[in-house]
Amino acid sequence: MIAESLDSKKKRALEMIKRLKKKFPEARIELHFKNPIELLVAVILSAQCTDKRVNMVTPALFKKYKTAKDYAKANPKTFEKEIHSTGFYRAKAKSIIGSMKEIVKRFDGKVPNRMQDLIPLPGIGRKTANVILGNVYGIPGLVVDTHMKRVANRLGLTNQQDPVKIEFELNEIIPKKEWTLFSHLIIWHGRRTCFARKPNCAECTINELCPSREDIKQVPVGLKKLKVTV
Ligand code: SF4
Repeated sequence: MIAESLDSKKKRALEMIKRLKKKFPEARIELHFKNPIELLVAVILSAQCTDKRVNMVTPALFKKYKTAKDYAKANPKTFEKEIHSTGFYRAKAKSIIGSMKEIVKRFDGKVPNRMQDLIPLPGIGRKTANVILGNVYGIPGLVVDTHMKRVANRLGLTNQQDPVKIEFELNEIIPKKEWTLFSHLIIWHGRRTCFARKPNCAECTINELCPSREDIKQVPVGLKKLKVTV
């Protein structure tokens, strides 16, 4: 099998963005937040948990803890109870309280707006950092979560499994100004159409651009074969 050229992937990706924008004009982050502190907390809580569950837990949390200092001074045991229903509560409490302590100490209580300052914080990896950069600071960030990993592989935009390698490959394919929106679109598509177990290829707006569609039985008869430029 001949590898697809970068140029061809770029063209395909642009068409995907165009079609997905049309299908999901309201695509955005689904976690509720009003400022960088709230987003940082919500993203850490969302690991291995649904956004819906996180959105049920955060209103009470955001009412009680407003600043980085509030979180830094939280009683770990009490805090664990408050976030218990999001799962992995011990690790999450440690990450949130630990990050906020650093933010108070090194950044005057403000969530930093640079990747190099965010990723050394406890519990914050490139994914969380890119969510923060893209959604509160308007700095393009490509978010590789479980949906991005699965869908980007199915779409043939990468064959990597490591999130950081996937991010760097996609950074070459997707125009920088679209990184944040592309993340929202693919995550929405993964949640609503390209499901992990049974992707709904028949109703997929980008099925003509997807090399995985033929592997799936529901594919409608008569779709043109994907033309790949090499
Ligand atoms: S055609 Fe199927 S596998 Fe490909 S992106 Fe669409 S839903 Fe996912």
